[in-house]
Amino acid sequence: MAAIETLSRWQAEETFLLSPTLPVPAQALPALNVVETFHSLQGEGLHAGRSAFFIRLAGCDVGCPWCDTKHSWPEAAHPRRPLGELAAEATAAAAAGAAFVVITGGEPLQQPLDGLCAALAPVGLPLHLETSGVGCLSGRFDWITLSPKAHRPPAADLLARCDELKVVVTSQDDLAFAEAMAAAAAGPELLLQPAWDDPAAQALAVAYVRRHPSWRLSLQSHKWLGLR
Ligand code: SF4
Repeated sequence: MAAIETLSRWQAEETFLLSPTLPVPAQALPALNVVETFHSLQGEGLHAGRSAFFIRLAGCDVGCPWCDTKHSWPEAAHPRRPLGELAAEATAAAAAGAAFVVITGGEPLQQPLDGLCAALAPVGLPLHLETSGVGCLSGRFDWITLSPKAHRPPAADLLARCDELKVVVTSQDDLAFAEAMAAAAAGPELLLQPAWDDPAAQALAVAYVRRHPSWRLSLQSHKWLGLR
């Protein structure tokens, strides 16, 4: 009798799970909210100038005043894209010459990245992450670029794990923040990046790098060239 009751309960639960009339929570589907995908050249950082396939994920609540991708902030404003579809696009980009995949945003860690990285693994390209370091690391990456923000400091594990520390320079205060982040990190490549349309910040960064050889200059070359 007990076995029959157990079976009946299992059948009821299975019917509940499989019922086509019940809504499936959006977060249970193998998909992420995506702003855009494109094959271009990496514009900034240590890998600047290399062919790359970009997946720009939606969602960011970090709120940087200088942000040039504010359209990416509202996650729900952008469509959910199946992970298999993104992997197929990455495969096509690899065949067309892309050397690696860049997962960027928005703040990509606002969405869980384990499934995306698993879906992209068979493509065979190195996976790069560009993050502000706010939130928990998910997914498996070959290269992590951490671009920390003073008003929302990064998580300690990302400071310890990042390969590249890229700090945006708009004022003298940013240089002190950059040094504090470098001291807290575990020996990543160090880059200072002034905005492409801010001559004063560029002069500040150039003068600093000239006097501090552990740092190098990162320019937003895609802006100068009019690339995506
Ligand atoms: S973390 Fe990046 S996407 Fe988010 S507001 Fe700052 S610059 Fe923009």
